[in-house]
Amino acid sequence: MFDLSGKTALVTGGNGGIGLAMARGLARSGASVVLVGRDAAKSAAAVEALKAQGLKADAVEADVTDEGSVQRLIAQVLERHGALHILVNNAGTNIRKPPQDLSLEDWNTVLDTNLTSAFLCSRAAHAPMKAAGAGKVINIGSMMSIFGAPYAPAYGASKGGIVQFTRSLATAWAADNIQANAVLPGWIDTELTRKARDQVQGLNERVLARTPAGRWGVPPDLAGIAVFLASSASDFITGTAIPVDGGYSIA
Ligand code: NDP
Repeated sequence: MFDLSGKTALVTGGNGGIGLAMARGLARSGASVVLVGRDAAKSAAAVEALKAQGLKADAVEADVTDEGSVQRLIAQVLERHGALHILVNNAGTNIRKPPQDLSLEDWNTVLDTNLTSAFLCSRAAHAPMKAAGAGKVINIGSMMSIFGAPYAPAYGASKGGIVQFTRSLATAWAADNIQANAVLPGWIDTELTRKARDQVQGLNERVLARTPAGRWGVPPDLAGIAVFLASSASDFITGTAIPVDGGYSIA
C-alpha cells in the first residue's frame, strides 16, 4: 500500500530541512526523487547523502518563483524520468516583521516563494500527472495556516492561501485521479526556525510549553505523512490539511 517503486517525486526545497526528510521518506518507499533548490552545491550534497543510503535521487537547480524556471524544471524531470507522479510543494521562506514595517518587496518575496510557487509547479505538473493516469500533490502549510502571529503577516497569508489553493486543486483534479492535500507542520527544528528562535524572544520556551509532545519536531517527523499522502493508501483523501505538530493545534 505504501510502495512507491516506479514513481517519480519532485520535492521543491528538497535539498534541506523538511523537504529533504520528506524526500528521504519517499525514496525509502521506492520513489526516484528529484530535489529542487536554487543552491546547486547544497542540492548536490543532499543527492550524495541519499545515494550513499542506496536511494534514487537527482537534483535540478530552479527558482520556483519564476514561471520559465518552473517550466524548464518540469521539462527536465520528464526528459530524465519520463513521468511525474508526485509533487511536494515545500519551498518556503519567511520575513519576520509586523505588518506596518513590511515592505511590498518583503510581502511579494514571501507570497511568491510560499504560494505562487505552488501554483506554478502544480499547474506545470497537471498534464504529466493526467497523462500518467494518477497524481499526488502535497502542499506544505504551517500552524500559521490556522493561527495568526504578529510578526508573520505575509507568511500567514501565504500559508492560509496554501490550504484554500489545495482545496481548489482537489476539486478541479479529482476527475483526473489526482489527489491534493496540505500538511501543516508544527514547530520543526530547521534552518528556518533556528533563525526564528534568534529573532523572536521567548519563542523556544513558548513552543515547548504549548506543544503537548513537549519537544520541537524534527524533519524526519514529516516523512511518514509524505509517504502516506504520496501512496495509494490515501487515494480517497483529498483537499485536507493535516497537522503534524505534536498536538500544538489542539492544545
Ligand atoms: P528551510 O529554510 O530549511 O528550507 C527551505 C527550502 O526552500 C530550501 O531547500 C531552499 O533551497 C528552498 N527554496 C527557498 N526559496 C526557493 C526558491 N525561490 N526556489 C527554489 N527553492 C527555494 O526550511 P524548512 O525545511 O523549515 O521549511 C520547509 C517548508 O516547511 C516551508 O514551506 C516552511 O514554510 C514549512 N514549514 C516549516 C516549519 C518549521 O517549523 N520548520 C513549520 C511549518 C511550515 P535553496 O536555498 O537551495 O533555494
